[in-house]
Amino acid sequence: MPRAVAGPEIERLVQLLARLPGLGPRSARRAALHLVKRREELMEPLAAAIADAHAKIEICSVCGNVDTRDPCTVCVDERRDPSILVVVENVADLWALERSGAIAGRYHVLGGTLSPLDGIGPEDLNLASLIARVRGSEIKEVVLAVNATVDGQTTAHYITDLLREAKVKMTRLAHGVPVGGELDYLDEGTLMAAIRSRTPL
Ligand code: ZN
Repeated sequence: MPRAVAGPEIERLVQLLARLPGLGPRSARRAALHLVKRREELMEPLAAAIADAHAKIEICSVCGNVDTRDPCTVCVDERRDPSILVVVENVADLWALERSGAIAGRYHVLGGTLSPLDGIGPEDLNLASLIARVRGSEIKEVVLAVNATVDGQTTAHYITDLLREAKVKMTRLAHGVPVGGELDYLDEGTLMAAIRSRTPL
């Protein structure tokens, strides 16, 4: 254990920052120092923004997205095409697709993938709400934008079976998504190409 170079308050800040994705211990230390140096212009607004977001975070009861309102910003956006529903594994994928700007539909966040080895079954995912949403709605196409992993593809097939009765067009992401690839790590161009050339299931 290296000797502490700062008081416990700053050490704690470093430790918490180091838990963020993409930040190792060294960059966490750099980030903490940066915050300390820019206490007024950065640390204070950041602390306030975190407290504010923390107080207001809600899970959208329609789609499962994370926002500070329910229904979420995406669900209430009337400029989106209500006939397209994009099914994603998690919120990071939803945000990645939105960054790409490839599709202006609505989303449904599954909250994971089927994974028998990890004991994750259909009842652990937001599938009941998906069926309810698709049934008797104006949704004409369901885009299965799940990761190109074994679990992702298993989940896609399961959902295809599940929605067979609903008579909607089912599509999935096309080329561009590397096998074993996770959407969140793809650049916007690749994601855009994958969703534009989606193929029927
Ligand atoms: Zn929503």
